[in-house]
Amino acid sequence: MEKKTVVVALGGNAILRRGQKGTFEEQLENVYHTAEQLAEMVLSGEWRIVITHGNGPQVGNILLQQDAAKHVVPPMPMDVCGAESQGLIGYMIQQSLHNILDRRGRGDIPIATVVTQVLVDKDDPAFQNPTKPVGPFYSEEEAKRLQEEKGWHVVEDAGRGWRRVVPSPDPKAIVEREVIRILVENRAIVIASGGGGIPVIKENGELKGVEAVIDKDLAGERLAEDVNADVFLILTDVDRVRLNYGKPDERPIDRMTVEEAKKYLAEGHFAKGSMEPKVKAAIRFVEAGGERAVIASLDQAEAALAGKAGTQVVRG
Ligand code: ADP
Ligand code: MG
Repeated sequence: MEKKTVVVALGGNAILRRGQKGTFEEQLENVYHTAEQLAEMVLSGEWRIVITHGNGPQVGNILLQQDAAKHVVPPMPMDVCGAESQGLIGYMIQQSLHNILDRRGRGDIPIATVVTQVLVDKDDPAFQNPTKPVGPFYSEEEAKRLQEEKGWHVVEDAGRGWRRVVPSPDPKAIVEREVIRILVENRAIVIASGGGGIPVIKENGELKGVEAVIDKDLAGERLAEDVNADVFLILTDVDRVRLNYGKPDERPIDRMTVEEAKKYLAEGHFAKGSMEPKVKAAIRFVEAGGERAVIASLDQAEAALAGKAGTQVVRG
């Protein structure tokens, strides 16, 4: 039987749970648990899997390290920190998945993480309106000084302190798409576009990293198109997408068509920066020819892939 391809987008909770500090042991344990579910998909023999993931807490900590150690080690720019986080998380997924598959007699399956650059448009309107908070919290005084010195945009973040905000441009193309395709066609499990990818622009004919953060679900959708995925599976910390989220008349959705999803989107049911990009990514994927997109909780991954859990987004 011909295998189908699924791109699995792992949310923050696949790597770090709420309330945890972020020690290596905690993260590895979470990743191992996540990898157990991914391994089941592989071992079913029905699916070819490609993995992408978020990196918020991890890149946040790397940025904090740059700041804390700046008098000892030269700080690296944000794009380099993003690349570091892809290696850090990719390593944990690669190792966990290999160990699980090896114990089940499938240690032969190749697994690779691809450091992934994602092209954005240097004229993307997001560059004029930075919205995505990143890195450590600062005092107002420190934040204003950084604004002055480095030209950062800083905002007061929900009473918790001051934070840098960066643009969140739309992903246009995955630079490494060809090597990812070659790996997938040669039966490798690929981990790519971590943290939404390293944002790069084209300037005078050359690629160049920029200080921005691409939404991981929108970048994951580009990845899903590039590998010709049948299903785009977005795993997060809620079991289904909801209408009137957080209100008394809240209602979970088992299945919605692209048309319905667009209508709900326009009605404002999905919060910006969290559920909105997932629904947008699901719409894009199905409109680009994908069979279905699914938004589901991590612990129902297999049932969601089988069409029996989560919110299934279909053509009509
Ligand atoms: P991830 O790391 O998986 O991307 P996010 O926090 O970005 O996680 O997105 C998942 C969150 O989206 C949920 O925890 C939930 O609080 C929020 N959310 C916002 N609007 C909705 C909605 N309409 N239905 C379900 N969840 C929603
Ligand atoms: Mg998110």
